[in-house]
Amino acid sequence: MKYKQFGNTGINLSVFGFGGAKFKNGKSNEENAELVLYAMDRGINHFDAGVGYTNSEEIFGLAANYCMPYCPKHIPIAEYMLFYNRKHIFGCPQEEFEKRLGFHKQWGTFAKREADAKDCAKCGACEKQCTQHIDIVGRLEEIAGIEARMS
Ligand code: SF4
Repeated sequence: MKYKQFGNTGINLSVFGFGGAKFKNGKSNEENAELVLYAMDRGINHFDAGVGYTNSEEIFGLAANYCMPYCPKHIPIAEYMLFYNRKHIFGCPQEEFEKRLGFHKQWGTFAKREADAKDCAKCGACEKQCTQHIDIVGRLEEIAGIEARMS
């Protein structure tokens, strides 16, 4: 797989991407998540989600949860990373970011969480599993700071 740097973010994206519009295929979320994992196993790390693509964000989040079983605190890592991307890659303004985060923690995919970003024990188990070498601990720490200000 060939990769190219995405703007000045320092992130290398695969030249082939996976479009969430393909989820309009009659398959279950779990079956579609398997398709995402199949693509990830082949080096694709460029996924395109959008509100218009049915529930693509939910499916990508489900697939990206491969690091979750390693977290002793059961932190919803994938969901937090999606929010982090919204802020830092897609430039979501701070006020809007906090509004969306608050909403999802109360009503959305975070609502049934067992732990918050602040509960991260910094054990590093998730980072060892992360194929994209994401600084999960650092990102959770940043989000925990935002959540502390929100409360
Ligand atoms: S570093 Fe934090 S998020 Fe990662 S596995 Fe450990 S407790 Fe969970």
